[in-house]
Amino acid sequence: MEETAKELEKRLTWKFPTIAKKSPEQKEEAFAYCEGYKAFLNAAKTEREFTAQAAALLERSGYAEWAPGRKYAPGDKVYVMNRKKALIMTTFGTRPLEDGLRLNAAHIDSPRLDLKPNPLYEKSEMAYFKTHYYGGIRKYQWVALPLAMHGVVIKADGETVEISVGEKEGDPVFCATDLLPHLSADQNERKLKDGIKGEELNILLGSLPFDCGDEEIKEAVKLQILALLHGTYGITEKDFLRAEIELVPAAKAVDVGFDRSMVGAYGQDDRVCAYTAMTAEIATKHPEYTTVTVFADKEEIGSVGNTGLNSNFLLHYVMDLAAAAGADYRRVLEHSLCLSSDVNAAFDPTFPQVYEEKNACYLGKGCVLTKYTGARGKSGSSDASAETMARVIERMDAEGVYWQIGELGAVDAGGGGTVALYVAGLNVDVVDLGVPILSMHSPFEVASKMDIYHTYKAFLAFYK
Ligand code: MN
Ligand code: MN
Repeated sequence: MEETAKELEKRLTWKFPTIAKKSPEQKEEAFAYCEGYKAFLNAAKTEREFTAQAAALLERSGYAEWAPGRKYAPGDKVYVMNRKKALIMTTFGTRPLEDGLRLNAAHIDSPRLDLKPNPLYEKSEMAYFKTHYYGGIRKYQWVALPLAMHGVVIKADGETVEISVGEKEGDPVFCATDLLPHLSADQNERKLKDGIKGEELNILLGSLPFDCGDEEIKEAVKLQILALLHGTYGITEKDFLRAEIELVPAAKAVDVGFDRSMVGAYGQDDRVCAYTAMTAEIATKHPEYTTVTVFADKEEIGSVGNTGLNSNFLLHYVMDLAAAAGADYRRVLEHSLCLSSDVNAAFDPTFPQVYEEKNACYLGKGCVLTKYTGARGKSGSSDASAETMARVIERMDAEGVYWQIGELGAVDAGGGGTVALYVAGLNVDVVDLGVPILSMHSPFEVASKMDIYHTYKAFLAFYK
């Protein structure tokens, strides 16, 4: 029988399906999976908290701290921490290391407000912290919003004091203030990018003076804050010089929509990929290829520093693995395949002009495979080869993973980067894969539960 045009069309054309239409039965599994995800997001709002929570979970899941130089057997699971802000975990495979690794790199830092080194001041009998924002934020989104304070202070005697205020029921929160509409006539004339300026992101801390009786104290509100901080943490103003304190949205991860089909939370870029990678890595018991799952810090400011992926900490780990197994690390890297696991911008029908609809990713169609990121003609991306795309697509198709492709916006609409180019710099085949996100880098990012679940499934397929 002759093929009809309809049949030919079906055979020759391609459209990414919507998961809930093709496989509605997966809704329940996806929703159940995201309960654990939301709980983890709430417990791990900063890179330090993420590594601490992850290490505890890995210990409970049969991982041991990696011992350099030791020979491991297939099925052994190890992890190693880098300066409490980055983490690598491995499940040893049956194949020799020189056949390559299954690398997976996600980042666990998110845009936020960091305290300046000398942050505390008083003005008009109110006390404030000065901040310097971290990563790409739209500053106007960070005012008139409850913020929680997380971080560490190293005291002169070396003791580390951990701070977390604004998360527990009944905790106070903090905020940067904004103008009222009645008095914002001048501010309204500013360009949106300057709607709130960097030096206007000042954090309100208190308004009561220290009870000093008759004594003349010039900044009694500031003194009151210092007295409270000293009472609780034993710290003084000088100790802020040895601190890292971050302000993040105080809200918890929640379901979004009448149908509860989405998760709304701060910092899903990129903890959504870190969480899905970690749970897939834990679930992988007897892989063929040895897995190396990396949680990196500092991606949001260019993968800088010794906890970011533009440092040698991952390379040195692979060199050590190779040395212990009597393998040549250059062969190991050359034959490795890496997923640079990061989020992409989901098509937003409210702002269609910045997307190109045929090459955008969409909520509910699965994880997004991003061949290249970058800006101005792919600059700053690693641009995965056709061969690399083929290897990853084969894995996902073989395991029934719903996936789609996506470019980060229309050509010349903007752009961005990930850790992919730094992994590629190690002579590893790499491509970006992750979850489509709405309102990326805002205090409340939105992701589809179906996509989150299928990113987990993509990682399972990749490690298998
Ligand atoms: Mn990211
Ligand atoms: Mn980002």
